[in-house]
Amino acid sequence: ATFADLGLEPRLLQAIASQSYRKPTAVQAKAIPLILDGGCDVLARAKTGSGKTAAYLLPILQSILQRKQTSATPSTSALILVPTRELADQVAKNIESLSSFCAKDIQAVKLSDKLPDAVQRSLLASSPDIVVATPSRACACLKNSALVLDALGFLCLDEADLVMSYGYEDDLQSIAASVPKHTRKILVSATLTPEIQTLKGLFCRNPTVLNL
Ligand code: AMP
Repeated sequence: ATFADLGLEPRLLQAIASQSYRKPTAVQAKAIPLILDGGCDVLARAKTGSGKTAAYLLPILQSILQRKQTSATPSTSALILVPTRELADQVAKNIESLSSFCAKDIQAVKLSDKLPDAVQRSLLASSPDIVVATPSRACACLKNSALVLDALGFLCLDEADLVMSYGYEDDLQSIAASVPKHTRKILVSATLTPEIQTLKGLFCRNPTVLNL
């Protein structure tokens, strides 16, 4: 399959070409149509290096672009939770490169404990389309109402096994309680440990499991 076969729109295909990605990786070939198709939550077993980040970012970007054709109201469509600041940086970089041909339609914000509260607040005040954060940062911004999830289309947990092993469970519980029922959940994990089963119970009803 090619990226065009997966149903991605021209501006995303241009960005993919500019990254010199020739064809979808295994996880991309499976996850992209599944997430674009809508409906189900997804639990994907995928390691760093498998192309997992683009596998969830591309369908999320496409969904945001589609929403913008019918609605001009800014809202946060996707919350991407990561275990570390380093991964947050990587995800933010991937968003930047994959949205390089539709940059004016995609606002992404990376929260960081290095930023003063007031700065984070002002970043979130414009309701960016995508927020990337660790669970503790996201949780703090939910508690002070800077982060609003009423219109959240996607909640993604990247490296979910590490998220759990770093002790973010309490933060995840309060985030889970703040996410609307209609939000689609995407869990990406290198391993399917018992902790991931706990997480699955917390976030997903009946996810489609991609065991690659
Ligand atoms: P990840 O598994 O998301 O950490 O991605 C690992 C690396 O593979 C990153 O440097 C990506 O830019 C790159 N990558 C992602 N998708 C593809 C693809 N389809 N073809 C070639 N490289 C890719």
